Amino acid sequence: MCDFCKIINKQLSAHIVYENNNLISFLDIDPIHEGHVLIVPKEHVDSIEKLSEKVLIDIMNVAKDIVKALKDIYGIEGYSIMQNGGKFCDYGHAHFHVFPRYENDGFGWTYPEGDAEYSARVAKQIREKVMKITYHNIEDVNDEEIKIAVIVAKHKGKLVLCKHKERDTWEMPGGHKESGETIIDAAKRELYEETGAKKFTLKPLCVYHITKYALLCYADIDEFEDLPKSEMEIVQFFDDLPENMTYPITHPELYKKAMELK
Ligand SMILES: [Zn+2]
Repeated sequence: MCDFCKIINKQLSAHIVYENNNLISFLDIDPIHEGHVLIVPKEHVDSIEKLSEKVLIDIMNVAKDIVKALKDIYGIEGYSIMQNGGKFCDYGHAHFHVFPRYENDGFGWTYPEGDAEYSARVAKQIREKVMKITYHNIEDVNDEEIKIAVIVAKHKGKLVLCKHKERDTWEMPGGHKESGETIIDAAKRELYEETGAKKFTLKPLCVYHITKYALLCYADIDEFEDLPKSEMEIVQFFDDLPENMTYPITHPELYKKAMELK
């Protein structure tokens, strides 16, 4: 059993600052600054890839509370959060470091050389993995697992896009499912809230997945009313997708897919 598992099982002592079902947090034995804590998931895994979304969210929430506490206690100027994985994960048990930072405290890392072209290539390689869209039949995914609905909407043959109050870019209507809703309910609600669509037909096309499952829909809007109070400011009609999209990587591909399936 690793030392962190021993701490979790109370076979080894540590200066514990927080604990719940998913994780434990205690002082680092070799602190970078006073107040340096570790947040350790209770499951013995060596990489964040193997942690559930629930545990990862819990870790970030606890990190937030620890940062608040460090501010109150030490008046810290900043903080750093670090996590080393795989071969570089001590004890092979994933853990997150949260520690205070001060100006000129000597903590840092060296940056490798890199030009814009290099960065563009690197970003593209990573993006193609992280933002890769996979498509699924609607019947193959539980409604419960589908969290987002995106709607390709048209009105008299024109594409209907909306603009968020705080952005200068265009997006297709859509959003997250609220509790108690089916994903179709969510799609209809989002379409109404973000475009003011009053009379429309909505057809689910397929499920896609990036980091979560989402439903892609096609809607034909016959009639609008005034835009309800939402995050959207205006709705406009387009012949084709504009250049300045809010989600320039995913929405053009989803639009193309919807046009194939509708
Ligand atoms: Zn362990």
